[in-house]
Amino acid sequence: MTDLSNSPTLGLADPALMPNAGDFPGGGRLAVRDPATGQLVAKVAMSEADGARAAVDAAHAAFADWALTLPQDRAAILHRWHALIVEAQEDLARIMTAEQGKPISEARGEIDYAASFVQFYAEEALRPNIEGVTSHLPDAEMELWREPVGVAALVTPWNFPCAMITRKAAAALAAGCTVVIHPSAETPLSALALAELARRAGFPEGVVNTVIGDAAAIVGEWTADTRVRALSFTGSTEVGRLLYRQSADTVKRLVLELGGHAPFIVFDDADLDRAVTEAVKAKFATSGQDCLGANRFYIQRAVYDDFCARFTKAVEALTLGHGMDDPEIGPLIHERAIEKQQAQVADAVEKGARLLAGGKVSESHGPLFFAPTVLADVPDSAAIMSEENFGPVAPLIVFDDEAEVIARANNTEYGLVAYVHSLDPRRIYRLTRALQFGMVAVNRTKVTGAPIPFGGTKQSGLGREGARQGLEAFTDIKYVCRDWG
Ligand code: NAD
Repeated sequence: MTDLSNSPTLGLADPALMPNAGDFPGGGRLAVRDPATGQLVAKVAMSEADGARAAVDAAHAAFADWALTLPQDRAAILHRWHALIVEAQEDLARIMTAEQGKPISEARGEIDYAASFVQFYAEEALRPNIEGVTSHLPDAEMELWREPVGVAALVTPWNFPCAMITRKAAAALAAGCTVVIHPSAETPLSALALAELARRAGFPEGVVNTVIGDAAAIVGEWTADTRVRALSFTGSTEVGRLLYRQSADTVKRLVLELGGHAPFIVFDDADLDRAVTEAVKAKFATSGQDCLGANRFYIQRAVYDDFCARFTKAVEALTLGHGMDDPEIGPLIHERAIEKQQAQVADAVEKGARLLAGGKVSESHGPLFFAPTVLADVPDSAAIMSEENFGPVAPLIVFDDEAEVIARANNTEYGLVAYVHSLDPRRIYRLTRALQFGMVAVNRTKVTGAPIPFGGTKQSGLGREGARQGLEAFTDIKYVCRDWG
């Protein structure tokens, strides 16, 4: 068993006894495994539809009081939750690495990122939620009040097991909603640890509820329940579409943070050293399992060969290993992810791509380690040029001019993020305007943070998370007109 017993801040002698795991049990235990070794990490009590309904009962009962809690009191509890997460950073990071596999320093970074949303929304809870309107009537005054919608359902993926929860929950809780949370079956322990810290922070009974188990049964129960007024989902476009349809009958507020297919564009006037460094980060962070991960690298002809050589050298130097040993690349999450890498590499090579590095499982590390891979001259017909890769495979493509690369970059059903490297401000301006993506990153890779509205266009989703905009899905506008005439 991967040893998590030394968890001083969380005080968890045995992760199998993780508090809250049995709050909404429905039968059965979920086995959580370390993807690097296949070893059992813990077994967690699972729920089904009954447990999901009980969680909504609790959240619904707690809503009226929580919505009327004074903003400074809501903010104080959120600040305590933030402090507890920061204090437990090492324990939370170790739990995350054990169940998700990511290198421990990336896991620590994710805890910082996760905590930053709680702090940001603790402060947002204090901002005015009433806006004046310039009246068009002679004796009437008008206001817009932002009010919490009610119970919010939060459904999160395994690749950022803590940050995806706090990015949603902190905003919903600051707005005055109560929440029911369903994390991925791959990473329940991070969710349960956050829930335990929320309990210690002092959220009243029923305000924060975490339900582990059969996703379709649990989330299906929530989409059908009229008491659940908002659904915030992060995950694949396929499941996002399904939940969009399922939410129609109960007309829920929706946030959908879905898949991506980011182009990474390097012009011949770019700082090439920097472009290579940022390209490695944009592809290989979280072993490539990142919705913001660069999925296609378009390199202008004059620097293509040079970029291919330098990028391949940097990729070959990446270290693989167990996340606790802090390598640069950890395991992929499950066997299906490995099969996808193998299929996309084989398909690209068959269609004429050149394999410059990697291309196969790194047997010496274990069955879920895929060697960081570089493919050159990848044709548009290759599956990886339209499917999300979500792994460590980087396809390189040559292009000639600006109009061509804009058209090719936009030729995707996704629209989450695009990366551009150039030192020409006019070109950057033109590209920024033309790229049909929710986020455009120029000459750098890491652009996210609590104060920015994160989200995509097209099939990458609806709505925004983070920033003031992140509160919108959890609030309704009430228009008030008072006539003194
Ligand atoms: P997924 O869609 O398989 O699962 C996401 C969540 O949905 C999990 O909690 C899962 O239990 C639940 N789920 C799965 N099937 C369901 C069903 N039939 N009904 C109801 N719920 C169901 O996604 P994943 O594999 O966990 O995560 C990877 C995907 O998430 C990638 O496509 C990635 O791009 C995307 N992602 C997007 C963002 C973003 O902010 N846009 C961030 C991280 C990940």
